[in-house]
Amino acid sequence: MGKLIAGNWKMNGAIAANASLVEAVLAGMPASPCAVAMCVPAPYLAQVGGLLQDKTIALGAQDVSAHESGAYTGEVSAAMLRDLGVRYAIVGHSERRQYHGETDAVVADKARQALSLGITPIVCVGETLAQHESGATEQVVRRQLAAVIHVNGHCISEIVVAYEPVWAIGTGKTASPQQAQQVHAVLRAQLKAATAQPGRIRILYGGSMNAGNAAQLLAEPDIDGGLIGGASLKPADFLAIIAAAS
Ligand code: PEP
Repeated sequence: MGKLIAGNWKMNGAIAANASLVEAVLAGMPASPCAVAMCVPAPYLAQVGGLLQDKTIALGAQDVSAHESGAYTGEVSAAMLRDLGVRYAIVGHSERRQYHGETDAVVADKARQALSLGITPIVCVGETLAQHESGATEQVVRRQLAAVIHVNGHCISEIVVAYEPVWAIGTGKTASPQQAQQVHAVLRAQLKAATAQPGRIRILYGGSMNAGNAAQLLAEPDIDGGLIGGASLKPADFLAIIAAAS
């Protein structure tokens, strides 16, 4: 299984800027790229989906509702994402856990909705700075992943996991390759115990991955790719990360 590089644009973008960004990345893609996805804001899924049609980059969303349909004003369902050709949906990003009160149980339900429509959830786990400093990292990420395993059972062989230490997201501080590998190995062992097909599951690292540090992080045995925030908005940087993973 090759690596996956997924860009998370977060709440950035505009019609004209999106077109230039996507065009620049498509123009610079290597001949035999790793798997690549762009997770874009919901209002731009149709636009970016059109630009990526028949191209080597998959369309991704940044969230999905935990509910199937109905009276959930403002929510976007997995069926709607699928209608738009979405292949991946980030769930449980730390910004959603932190600013929108998403619990482990809600994140697990979101993963379930995505899986039920054939969309691959990119399940984010990661510890805060305080948890990191108190030595609780492994306990926290294991608890977050356990909730998703509990609700989704054998279907978890179809998920992607992203280890994103909260203290490294958007801060310019990166976990060292050794620190990240250690946590990835813990997550890998947990997945192995939970499914007969753990080899299908990619575990991405996210948190200030950039053109300068990607190769070293991606060289670790249990780092199967990256979830890229800030650097995914800069074509040259995103392409350098893709090249390092391809
Ligand atoms: C992210 O948004 O998932 C992320 C990892 O952001 P950044 O790369 O900017 O730290």
